[in-house]
Parts: sequence; C-alpha cells; structure tokens
Amino acid sequence: MDHISDRLNRLSESQTLAMTRRSRELRAKGLDVINLSIGEPDFDTPDFIKQAAVDAIQNNHTHYPPVPGYEDLLQAIADKFKRDNDLDYSLSQIVVSTGAKQSLANLVLSLVNPGDEVILPAPFWVTYMELVKLAEGKPVILDTGLNQDFKVTAKQIASAITSKTKLIMFSSPCNPSGSAYTRKELEDIAAVIAENKSVYVISDEIYEHILYNGSHFSIASIAEVKDQVITVNGVSKGFAMTGWRIGYMGAPDWIAKACNKIQGQFTSGASTISQKAAVAALKADPSVTHEMKEIFLKRRDLLLDLLKEIEGLQTNVPQGAFYVFPDVSSYFGKSHGNDSINNANDLCLYLLNQAHVALVPGEAFGTPGYIRISYACSEEQLKEAAKRIKTALDNLQ
Ligand code: PLP
Repeated sequence: MDHISDRLNRLSESQTLAMTRRSRELRAKGLDVINLSIGEPDFDTPDFIKQAAVDAIQNNHTHYPPVPGYEDLLQAIADKFKRDNDLDYSLSQIVVSTGAKQSLANLVLSLVNPGDEVILPAPFWVTYMELVKLAEGKPVILDTGLNQDFKVTAKQIASAITSKTKLIMFSSPCNPSGSAYTRKELEDIAAVIAENKSVYVISDEIYEHILYNGSHFSIASIAEVKDQVITVNGVSKGFAMTGWRIGYMGAPDWIAKACNKIQGQFTSGASTISQKAAVAALKADPSVTHEMKEIFLKRRDLLLDLLKEIEGLQTNVPQGAFYVFPDVSSYFGKSHGNDSINNANDLCLYLLNQAHVALVPGEAFGTPGYIRISYACSEEQLKEAAKRIKTALDNLQ
C-alpha cells in the first residue's frame, strides 16, 4: 500500500516523457524505433556556449548563486528582452529558474488559489494542466482546432472570463501545434485582458527563435497590459540547451518577488555553471540560432510533403516550433487484426507497436483527435517514419 499525498495523486505523468520512455524500452529490446515524440532539438549546444561553462568551472563559479540569478545573467536577459522583444524589464523583475518549466511552476503556485479559474486554450503544453491541478485551480479549456489554426480568439477569451478567472496560459509559437499568433491577434486578446484587471497572462515564448514567417511579437510589449503579463522564456529550444536547465521570466515586481520566495525554498536558484553558459548564449547575436531554424524549416516542409501522401491525415502549415499536429479522426472506428482505433491514444499505440514510430496523442494536450509529430530528427528518419506510418495506416479498414 502506498501513502502518496492526494496532491501528487492528482498529478498525471507527462505523456510526452512517457512516450519517450516507452520507445527507449522498445529500443532496449532491440527494436528499431523512430522516436518522433521528442520535444528537444537534436543539435548539440554550440561550442562557444560550452566554453563559457568550462570557464565558469575554472573560475570557481561553484558556490550558491543569488536566488533570482547572477547579476550578469539578469542583465543579459534584460538586454535580450529589449533587443529582441522591445520589453523593458528592470533586473528586479527578472527571475532565472531551473528551466522554463520551473518558471511556470513558480508562477502558477504563486498566483493560483484553490478554485481560481485558469484559461487554457487547447491544444496546450502538457505541463500547464498539471500545474493548475497541483495548485488546485480549475482549468477552463477553450477548444481551438485545425479550422482556426489552433489559435484562440479574443472573443472566446472574453466569453470565458468570469469573476474567478485568474490566469490565461499559452505558448506562441505553440507546442504542440506549431501555430504562432500574429501581432494583430495578440492586440485583440490584449484589449480583452486590459478590460479585466484581475486577470493575468503567462506568455510562454520558449520557441521564439524557431519561427519561420514574420517576426516574434511579445504581448507584454503592449503597454495597456504590461502589468498583467508575465513573459516566460529560456535557452532550451533556441540554443539547443535542454539539459542545462535554464529558463527565466520577466514579470511585474510583486510577482517576481513571490517567485523568488518560492524558489528560495525549493532550489536556492539555478545551476551556476549553466547560468554562465546562458550569459554567453543570450549575449550572442540571435543569428547563432538561425542555422538551426533553417534546418528545422527544411524538415517541416519535407514532413508536410510526406504527410500529403497519407490521405486520412489533415494538417495546417505550422509557423514555428518543431511539431506538426495532424487531425487523425478519420481513422477512428477502423481496425487491423486485434487492434481497434477509437481515439488518438489507440492510434499512437498502434503506430508504436506496428510501425515502431513513437508519437504523442492529442489527448495529452487537451485536444483529442490529433497526434503530435516532432521533426527534431534527421531527414532520413522522417522519410522512413512516414513510410512506416503510411503502411500501418493503410492497413486500417
Ligand atoms: N514551454 C513549452 C511550450 C515547452 O514545450 C517546454 C519544453 O518542452 C517548456 C516550456 C520547458 O522548457 P525548459 O526546458 O526550459 O524547462
């Protein structure tokens, strides 16, 4: 018998990490599994960033850091916010954490009281929902879909806001849909937020540097809502630094102070060596990220072409991140041998077992009927995976 707290029992295991684990297990058994469930760039961290970490060790940056982060990193983040996003954050408004995931956890635990409503446009990143549950908030899911390019409208938000609404959380470019909000769309949403002064917005911009069309726009740069928006970002995706675990936020002073308080009890701050590496990454010209972006774009186009060959899949043209999120509902009700497909979960299991391709079902992101395909892998892997997926799907009757 276990004695796990109700709090933890409310939490679900990350389905994206679970898929990655399952495909590792199959690989360990000798099966040739292509893992398209991954949420990280397949590139290595650029050498100049690695060198900064080596220097940090040699220079004995090995003691506890200040809780919100080293001052040079806070300054590099403030400069980056200004340079890339037209945002003015003072150093006291910035908090560095152990990944953007921890920035989000700090924020939800600092802001959400039991019973508070948190608006989550779906598809949403898996962790948002679990953090809201942990804080005993009430998730209010707003459905979007392929027909609205997976983007919530200002009108939908306006009609979902009640006296209990505390937060809205979304990512742009979005994991899992790859959709990116335009400046105009964000201005429309901001107009609704500005009318509701007790509502806060977490704008998760971790995929900022993986955007193919147009330039990234931060909702916090709209003056009318600056005091209601927290901008979350990090170095994981744009700089291929997932393992370094550095994320950060720019927030109104009182929110940054609250996040420092919680972080001071949870972690005492992020790894010193990773912080020094992040200084090098953020001070560099953002063009260092462009080469990776161009490669992702080529792969996106390749994958979209390959998926066109599969009749039952419908997809949008994702503008950023490294995911495609096709509608797979045309396969529901079909079967092959003993495998019956009634939802995206069934379909992902079927494809893992029959095609040895790991994907993530839309259920994980609050959007049943879809699957997430990551293209953070080689072109050869994408071609082989698409071939296998097509064969397995063609077998469904
Ligand atoms: N936000 C989104 C939308 C993500 O997809 C991820 C990682 O998958 C994160 C935040 C967390 O990133 P980090 O590695 O900085 O914790």
